[in-house]
Amino acid sequence: MNYTLQQQLPPTATNKQNNGYKRLRLFLWKIAHGAIPVGAALARRGIKVNPICTMCCDAEEDVQHLIFLCPFSRACWLGSPLAINSHALAIGEREAMVYMRSQMSDDQWGMFTNIIWAIWRTRNDCAYSSKSPCVDNFNRDLSAIRAESMLAGLLGKEGERVDRQTGEIEELCCFTDGSWGTEWEGGAGLILMKGEVLQGYQYWGVPACCAVQAEAIAMLKAIDFVKATKQARCTFLIDCSVVAKIASQLQRPQEEDWRASRELHEIWRAFKQNSRFSCQHIPRDQNDLADILAKKGRIHGGHFTGYTFPL
Ligand SMILES: [Zn+2]
Repeated sequence: MNYTLQQQLPPTATNKQNNGYKRLRLFLWKIAHGAIPVGAALARRGIKVNPICTMCCDAEEDVQHLIFLCPFSRACWLGSPLAINSHALAIGEREAMVYMRSQMSDDQWGMFTNIIWAIWRTRNDCAYSSKSPCVDNFNRDLSAIRAESMLAGLLGKEGERVDRQTGEIEELCCFTDGSWGTEWEGGAGLILMKGEVLQGYQYWGVPACCAVQAEAIAMLKAIDFVKATKQARCTFLIDCSVVAKIASQLQRPQEEDWRASRELHEIWRAFKQNSRFSCQHIPRDQNDLADILAKKGRIHGGHFTGYTFPL
C-alpha cells in the first residue's frame, strides 16, 4: 500500500497547535509504528519485563492485543458509542487505523482515537498503580479525554483572539464564567492560559441563588486556582459587568446585589490585597469556552480539573 499514516491522521476539526493535541498525535504515530512500550516489544529488545498483558494476564502484551484483542479492550469498544467489534480490527494496528480513518467521519475518528487513548491510560493504571481494569474508570477517563480534546480544538482560537483584541493583557490570563439555571442550580468554569498555552481548566457545580452569585463564585474559584499555581501576575477575564467592576476596584459591592454580597466583598478584598491581579470585562462571545465549562458544571455537578492530555 502506498500511503503515509500521517496524512491519514486527525482532521482539521482539532488541528490546532496545542500541547494535548500534539501529544495525542505523537501517541497515535507511536502506535502505528510499534513504538509504544508494551511488554512484548520490550521483552523482544532484551529488557527484563513481564511480557504478559497486565489487564487480562492471559496473552502476550503486544499493541494489537492491548488495543483490539484483550477481553477488557473488546468490552470497552463494544460498549462505546461506536459499538465496534474490535476483533475484526486484528489486521495489524497500522492497517486497522488507516482503514478506520478512511471509513469514519471526523467526529467518529475523534472518538476512535480517544478510546485508544483511554485504553492506554487504563493499561498504565493497571501496570504502574496496580488498579484492576474497570469499565467505570475507563468511561470516566474517556469522558475526561473527550472534554480535553474538545478544548484542544477550541483553545487555539481563544488564544489568538486574546492576543489580537486585548494586546495589553498580561501573559497569564484566566477566563472565568458562571452559569445559573433555576433555584440553586449554578455552575462555575475557568480556563487558565499562558499566552496560547493551556495551563489548566476547571468546572464546578455550585449552589447559587442568582446569576451574579454564580459569576462571583466562579471568580473566587478562579482566584484560588491561580493562587495555587504560584504564578504572581494574572488578568482575570469575565463577561459579568458587576463582578468585573468590583474586581477592578471601580465600584464597591452595591446593595442591589445583596444576594451575592458575601462573595462580592470577598472578591473586592482579594483584588485590593493583590496588586498583581487585574480584571477585565470581556464580551460574552469571547468567553464561550469558560461558558461551556460553567454549563457543564451546572448540569453535571461535582467538579473536574484538567490540564492537558495525561499520558
Ligand atoms: Zn489482555
